[in-house]
Amino acid sequence: MLVFALIAVMAFVVAAVPYGICLLCLSVLRLDPTDPPESSFEPTVSVVLPTHNEASIVRTRLRNIRDLDYPPEKLEVVVVDSSTDETANLVRSFFEGTDDLSLVLVQESSRRGVAAAVNEAISAASGEVILRTDCDSRLAPDVVRRGVRHLSNPNVGGVTGRQAEFLAESGVERDYRGLLTELQLLENRVDSVFIVHGPCFMFRREEFEPLPHDTLADDTEIAVRLRRSGKRVAFDPEMKFAEAGTSGFFSRRNRKDRRAMGLLDLLARHRDAIGRYGLYGRIVLPLNAWMMWVAPWMMALGTVSTVLFALSFGPIGLSVPALIAVGFILGQSERLGPLQPLYPVVDSMVSLLVASYKLRREQDGVWDIDRSSREAFE
Ligand code: GDP
Ligand code: MN
Repeated sequence: MLVFALIAVMAFVVAAVPYGICLLCLSVLRLDPTDPPESSFEPTVSVVLPTHNEASIVRTRLRNIRDLDYPPEKLEVVVVDSSTDETANLVRSFFEGTDDLSLVLVQESSRRGVAAAVNEAISAASGEVILRTDCDSRLAPDVVRRGVRHLSNPNVGGVTGRQAEFLAESGVERDYRGLLTELQLLENRVDSVFIVHGPCFMFRREEFEPLPHDTLADDTEIAVRLRRSGKRVAFDPEMKFAEAGTSGFFSRRNRKDRRAMGLLDLLARHRDAIGRYGLYGRIVLPLNAWMMWVAPWMMALGTVSTVLFALSFGPIGLSVPALIAVGFILGQSERLGPLQPLYPVVDSMVSLLVASYKLRREQDGVWDIDRSSREAFE
């Protein structure tokens, strides 16, 4: 029976390794992000906004885009819409009321997923720089100004921002983003960031190549391709955006599991990049692969072995699964005390496990829109 205890310990250690490496690096390296260089670079910018049935929030979103601190004559909004509701009319009437900002509205005859919409948008865009965003988010006014300063460096292919505000305040999502921010700061220092955020991601139009329609993570897909073409992708925590998030275990699953599917699928398709492209393929990608491919399974193996080990002492062993259940209940309401920071990691591992199961089905790049985040945004 001791063998279960041994397996459990080994599995948990293997699962913890990438996190340990990150913590170690973070404590050794000084990661105060440097401000992007001051520059007179003021390119034209196309704000790309895919929409699918966003009538309840699209005007609020457009007002936020209009409030960006950037010369309006250098800004263009490209909406690619596949809605069956009033979204397109609302967009058109919004722009009838503003003459400083220009609109390109592409109406799709059917819904084909976000990657197809982004391809469509970028081929219709005329800006030198693309700001890819989405409807249920909000950008700080200085995002474009900061973004173009990063892009004034020709070695920087793209730049993403940080989720700094949580509509429908969710502690679990905040903690998860906090950890992701640390990882991104590290990746940014080492070479180039892996995960980028769809609501706030800027890159040059001419460096964009059309995406496969079935991808569930078009944003990070663009970032990986940029790095493979020799440019780095920067992370600027001062480029702030807001998005809604929830804490409840079940309410988190839909969106988190789908995002995990997107990342797993992306990593698998770009597995040949591991070991190449400097420290990106030697450190950044292996670290992410370990966190996404190895750690969740080790975590599951460790948990099962712990339960088996405990059961070898008789029915009293059932207290272990009971404790785990209590841990989840306390974790989603942020009452785990000193263990709380572990909760979003375990929550993400659950998503990755569910995602690897769901990915066995063919994907078409279309998903259920998260309605609760729209309600929070209203
Ligand atoms: P999430 O932020 O990862 O949860 O993704 P969202 O569900 O918010 O989708 C990102 C953006 O793409 C939102 O503005 C959606 O309205 C829009 N969107 C989602 N699916 C489609 C689609 O099939 N076609 C188009 N044109 N837009 C879509
Ligand atoms: Mn969204």
